[in-house]
Amino acid sequence: MAIDNNIMVILSSPSGVGKTTLTKKIQQKYQSFKISVSYTTRPPRSNEVDGVDYNFVKKQEFEKLIKKNAFYEYAKIFENYYGTLKKNVDESLKKNDIIFDIDWQGTKQLSKFKNLNLIKIFLITENKEELKKRLINRNQNTADELEKRYNSFDEDIKYWSDYDYILINKNLDVCFKQIENIILMNKKNDINFSQKAQ
Ligand code: 5GP
Repeated sequence: MAIDNNIMVILSSPSGVGKTTLTKKIQQKYQSFKISVSYTTRPPRSNEVDGVDYNFVKKQEFEKLIKKNAFYEYAKIFENYYGTLKKNVDESLKKNDIIFDIDWQGTKQLSKFKNLNLIKIFLITENKEELKKRLINRNQNTADELEKRYNSFDEDIKYWSDYDYILINKNLDVCFKQIENIILMNKKNDINFSQKAQ
């Protein structure tokens, strides 16, 4: 696997903190970054595209891939499976940096691969009430899902210490700049990197 300069940035957070927006912003600015497209058994939301937001698969197909040891990591979250396929990551890493939007369970599993150049970032809102507001405004979940996502905050934040950086996303532009600085610091030996920015 070619992992000399290419980095793997993990962004984890409780649902609703702004991870997806930030991930897309980084990829738009730095074309060297690919977003890792996870496999999931969760049904697509109305705005989601198969193969772009996720690879949506049936539970049976996902379990076959588990048996084949095809995942770098996978986890069951809110009753659905989510996972990162080894083949896709290995292929992307030959030419690209990668951004992952995965949870703490996946981060723990990826950390075991010592040959991967991981940068682990955990995002939070300034408090739990703010998270609730954002989840309600996002309007993507049923009341039951919203409650589960809100309650998972306490569980998620237990794993802060597994991460290299904890960022508070109070202001999207500031938070983006902070992530950018972390990336630039880690890419300082790659002279072509900042020139690739859009
Ligand atoms: P959502 O259903 O809101 O898209 O995602 C729910 C949670 O699953 C989020 O915290 C997200 O980071 C996590 N997630 C998405 N893809 C993966 C994956 O491939 N592996 C793991 N471990 N978590 C994932």
